[in-house]
Amino acid sequence: MTEIFDFGDDLGPTKVIHVYEPSIELRAILVIDNVAAGPSVGGVRMAPDVSVEECFRLARAMTMKNAAAELPHGGGKAVLFGDPKMPARDKQKLLRAMASSLRNVEDYIFAPDMGTDEVCMAWVKDEIGRVVGLPRELGGIPLDEIGATGWGLAHAADVAASFCDLALRGARVVVQGFGAVGKHAARFLIDKGAVLVAASDSRGATFNADGLDIHALMDLKQAGKSVSDYAGGTRLEPEAVIDIECDIWVPAARPDVINEENVHRLRSKMMIQGANIPATAGAERSLHESGILCVPDFIANAGGVICAAMEYQGAGESMVFPVIEDKIRRNTRSVLDAAASQNILPREAAVDLATKRVKRAMNYRRYSLFSSAPGFV
Ligand code: NAD
Repeated sequence: MTEIFDFGDDLGPTKVIHVYEPSIELRAILVIDNVAAGPSVGGVRMAPDVSVEECFRLARAMTMKNAAAELPHGGGKAVLFGDPKMPARDKQKLLRAMASSLRNVEDYIFAPDMGTDEVCMAWVKDEIGRVVGLPRELGGIPLDEIGATGWGLAHAADVAASFCDLALRGARVVVQGFGAVGKHAARFLIDKGAVLVAASDSRGATFNADGLDIHALMDLKQAGKSVSDYAGGTRLEPEAVIDIECDIWVPAARPDVINEENVHRLRSKMMIQGANIPATAGAERSLHESGILCVPDFIANAGGVICAAMEYQGAGESMVFPVIEDKIRRNTRSVLDAAASQNILPREAAVDLATKRVKRAMNYRRYSLFSSAPGFV
């Protein structure tokens, strides 16, 4: 494998498929990383420029996330090349053609990601049926609308608080990226007694040490405005939320927002990672050394995929919250206990937990009988 790609290891990837259909300018990549636990689930990202290697990294992140959450699914990811804002009819043609080309690749279940949504998944359902993240009318559970990921983040924060002598009641929260993940994380933390003191979006930020009115902020976003238009707070640049002293800092926007250049500015007791890879590896180590507790992305933000996996099995909306709560609380505790007892980073403990689960699942497969690789019995 290393002769073909300079990525990959004993977990995967198991398949890399390129889809090319010149007649409609369809170009896509599917990376299926590991399917020991079951068919892979991972979103279709629509973007003009994503490499095979990046697709693999995203697929591996799904292997880790699904294994940590003990879902009967492996990890995969697909990229559809194109502008996600293209006319809906053209987008529909591409999604339908992509699904149709991958009709027989049964170890990949389509899901939404950046640039695709539940409408796109409805087209996939119509073509091949193997999909999650559907509209309500088709039996889907609208995970962003109900705040599945935010619910999990609030529980991760609740468990992590006990590891740094913090009470959620009165804890000051800053949310970077007041979108589907960030706003619901804030809402559920406020329900637990925390105070949202700052929030940002791509256009600006707002700050009030006495607390922001979450419903007023949500109304502003609903009306297409920025949180910085909120009348009850001081208007700031988006970047300024990094400097606001708080107890819980929730990144819920972009990757690598905390890096070696700005990590020293963060003054918080903990970081609960809503976004995927919001901090670079070096920044995460610095946070650890300065005593800021991090709950890693694929442990804290698994609420969405847990919800999607339950939808695939036909669960109803009311069933998902208790399951997300249980899984994320258990995993957060295991990871933080292991990190503390072994004096390692929470991310190292999380990768260890997920990798062991993947390897145990691999041991249940027939091919383990023929393997001499370490870890197989
Ligand atoms: P979203 O588009 O609903 O929200 C993102 C928010 O971030 C928007 O308000 C946007 O204005 C803001 N933003 C963008 N750039 C910013 C910047 N530089 N500074 C401040 N704010 C900025 O997206 P989402 O679904 O909430 O996802 C957010 C992140 O969480 C992404 O990294 C996504 O991959 C990850 N994630 C999402 C889910 C889910 O269930 N939606 C699950 C796991 C991980």
